[in-house]
Amino acid sequence: MSDQINSLRINSERFKANFDALARIGGTQDGGVHRPALSESHLKAREWFKRQIEDAGLQFQVDTAGNHSGVLKSGPQNAPTLLLGSHLDSVPDGGRFDGALGVVAALEVLQVIQETGISLPFHLEAIDFTDEEGTLVGLLGSSALAGKLSVLDLQEPRGGRDLLLKCLSKANLSENDLPDSRRDPRSLAGYLELHIEQGMTLQKAEAEIGVVTSIAGIGSYRIIFLGRADHAGTTPMEDRLDAALGAGAFTISVRDITQSEFPQCVTNIGAINLFPAAFNIVPSKAVISLEYRAPESGMMKRLEAALLDRANMAAKQFKLGLETEFLNEHQPAPMDIRVREAITIAAQGLNLKTINLSSGAGHDAQSLAEICPAGMIFVPSVGGTSHSPQEYTKWQDCVNGANVLLQATLRLADQKSS
Ligand SMILES: [Zn+2]
Repeated sequence: MSDQINSLRINSERFKANFDALARIGGTQDGGVHRPALSESHLKAREWFKRQIEDAGLQFQVDTAGNHSGVLKSGPQNAPTLLLGSHLDSVPDGGRFDGALGVVAALEVLQVIQETGISLPFHLEAIDFTDEEGTLVGLLGSSALAGKLSVLDLQEPRGGRDLLLKCLSKANLSENDLPDSRRDPRSLAGYLELHIEQGMTLQKAEAEIGVVTSIAGIGSYRIIFLGRADHAGTTPMEDRLDAALGAGAFTISVRDITQSEFPQCVTNIGAINLFPAAFNIVPSKAVISLEYRAPESGMMKRLEAALLDRANMAAKQFKLGLETEFLNEHQPAPMDIRVREAITIAAQGLNLKTINLSSGAGHDAQSLAEICPAGMIFVPSVGGTSHSPQEYTKWQDCVNGANVLLQATLRLADQKSS
């Protein structure tokens, strides 16, 4: 690549002004943002994004899933499009950086490339995906675009069907048209996303840029231990069939096996409900919400089997019945090796220290990875805090990430033309 292209950088003042302006939309007293998908504040943020796109002289477009985009025609007429993006929605009372950073950086990259007037082997599109965070469905816009939106997701959305329908209509979207946003994979050159890490790995490694290797797969089960309700005063301890004991033993053993045999994975027991739930009745039933995440599909299968095995052991130990109900699963999404290389070389060219890491959190990139080469750039989250108003990334790290996004785009262009 030429020196002129190697030395290309984002305009950090404009980038900061845009980031701050966006953070004020739905901004909360404690410095966070409240922009649940398709809420009033989120729709305002989208209007703001549209205005920036038009003011910059980029082409604005919105698809039937409500994904908002700015397009820069930088390639030959029939060239595919490289998508750069993230999401403008937030969790309730979330932080300023999650999602917003990636969208503002994508817009900035398009503007810089537009200003230099260089032509690329692909067009560029800065995209804001609908409902990444799951207020309604989760990864709604990106899975629709990837053609992976399931009927079940819409029939039983996690935010409830009433909310989904109400929000779609408020945003002038219709459920039946959502799948029409599907893109032909041949029309896409790839997908790049800049995002905050939302964990402590980069900070601990004193690294400035994380090159994401894969986005963790996630699975969930309902585990039910069945015992017998008895008088808590008159039943001797040795005669009880206490479902709470199964739940307790299982909880501890899930943690033990994850740490000892699956150090790259995480597991969570997020709820234990005991029935009939009284001071003086031995619990007859314990209902557990179990979630597990793994960076690779073989490992995910082994982890799942190990967890079910532990549930069996806990049931046997306390002479309980056991029911296991599989709820759902998303396979791990490996990031494309050439995109990872482009990110790594881009960061090295900027003298930034990189590490490879997998993402425990879900992202739009996992939808895109199913249909085109996808990659993610992580920048450090101070203290690992996220989904909170305290979420914070040093501004220099945001600038570094945006410059890596710019340079990785140029590297991919170089790969494609050579
Ligand atoms: Zn996010």
